[in-house]
Amino acid sequence: MIYPDKNENPYLCRMQNDIFQQIELLNIQKLEEPLQVLENCRICPRNCGANRFSSKLGYCKSDASYFISSICVHRGEEPAISGNQGICNVFFGHCNLQCLYCQNHQISFNKNSLAANHFTLKQVLTEIVKCLDAGCEAVGFVSPSHFVPQFKVIVNALFELGLHPTIVYNTNGYDTVETLREIEPFVDVYLPDFKYINSDLSKKYSDANEYPEIAKNALREIYRQKGSTLFLDENGITERGIIIRHLVLPGHTENSLGVLRFIAEEISTSIHISLMSQYYPTAFVRNISPLNRTLYQEEYQSVVDEFHRLGFRKGWVQDLESHENYQPDFEKEHPFEE
Ligand code: SF4
Repeated sequence: MIYPDKNENPYLCRMQNDIFQQIELLNIQKLEEPLQVLENCRICPRNCGANRFSSKLGYCKSDASYFISSICVHRGEEPAISGNQGICNVFFGHCNLQCLYCQNHQISFNKNSLAANHFTLKQVLTEIVKCLDAGCEAVGFVSPSHFVPQFKVIVNALFELGLHPTIVYNTNGYDTVETLREIEPFVDVYLPDFKYINSDLSKKYSDANEYPEIAKNALREIYRQKGSTLFLDENGITERGIIIRHLVLPGHTENSLGVLRFIAEEISTSIHISLMSQYYPTAFVRNISPLNRTLYQEEYQSVVDEFHRLGFRKGWVQDLESHENYQPDFEKEHPFEE
């Protein structure tokens, strides 16, 4: 593995003329050695032991390729992540959680999802370089938990090319501590969800009975790695740190209150929180109450009040109407644009 010093190799904010030639010259076989663990895949808490080079796949129905739905410039993350230029987001296909209400269901459902593309490493790098050349200074990996070896290969290849964008690990929180320790040298910013404190809910809605304990341990580990300070550059863009996200679900304010109390009591009230109201019911939950509606004003307000009462002062609280702005369509080339 090669971990170049960022100070010696400053991030190239403009693509060099010969960068595509450099991609062609990479030693792909050597770079892809981390993929060998996928012969007996235990990289996420599902612990399947599947051989992802075979046709017998594990829970995530993901093979050993770079199975990616979209690589695009995204301006919809928190302002300290997206900035004006946007972030280059790599959206992996499928997921190791199967949330019934998933807002990105087109790409995250393991059955019946939109076909993602089986990219080669060179194709992934080419698309990322295009985004960096368009002005992005960060590369975000969205739902990477079941593609951690591929994530490591891609980041290491960027390093080999002399590129050092801020690396953002945008996860559902369903990661093992062992895997998080392995990726510590690769990640600058963690964007973890903390979805549930209640295991009945996590079982019912995301097919993961043990999600609360797994996510608590994941948060403890990333807090050990990064602490509570969010380091920003001169333009206010995050270079290092953690932002914990929580999507408030309709009819489940107690779950949200418990999530905030856990973070306050066992992590820190100095950490940045992104409290999200953008939930909207997809067609898949049309008949599942209370998921078949958006949030009531009073239930969201009770969570916001608890956020302040607990002493959180840093982060973002979405407006209640946010669900009107967040309805991506991954059938489009640019999923987040009208
Ligand atoms: S990444 Fe996929 S195959 Fe590997 S343990 Fe998790 S669910 Fe199973």
